[in-house]
Amino acid sequence: VTRLLKKYIRTLLEVRQQKKLRIFDFDDTLVKTNSLIHVTTATGQKFDLTPGEYAVYEQSHDEIYDYSDFQKLIDPKVIHWTMLILQYIAEAGADAIILTARSTAIPVQQFLSDAQLPQFEVISLGSSDPMAKARYIADRINKDSLAHVEFFDDSPKNIAAVKSLQKDFPQTKIVVRHVKH
Ligand SMILES: [Mg+2]
Repeated sequence: VTRLLKKYIRTLLEVRQQKKLRIFDFDDTLVKTNSLIHVTTATGQKFDLTPGEYAVYEQSHDEIYDYSDFQKLIDPKVIHWTMLILQYIAEAGADAIILTARSTAIPVQQFLSDAQLPQFEVISLGSSDPMAKARYIADRINKDSLAHVEFFDDSPKNIAAVKSLQKDFPQTKIVVRHVKH
């Protein structure tokens, strides 16, 4: 009985060790849209940034950022290689979530159903702070006892923030995939 019990516990631990979660950003990672960030400077000048430009933009505390385009799904175009991975994950029944800075998950859920993909869990952070993504993933590693995280994002700041989690979680393998265009 003891031997069986030991074997059973070992199997349980192995399953736990294999727990893997793939995490996808949405904008410019799975899909390109015509959503823009509308910027107003301290002197009242207005200009727009694409999500790609915004990802590397140095924000200033006296500028106002209008993210209202991201409440919608404007003219979405699929990014094929990441979507292929997501389809493959869906077919394999593996775990994936979509983690977006958007303040609402609804456009992302709409996109998933339009693309005939399963309704993966969508987390909308309502913050473009790279640390918001890193904190969410850290909580998730703890909550789900993740052994392996694979993170896809086009923003170098998000990639750096999530990569920096590795030192806090030596037991978890954290792989980052920088989606470049
Ligand atoms: Mg992005």
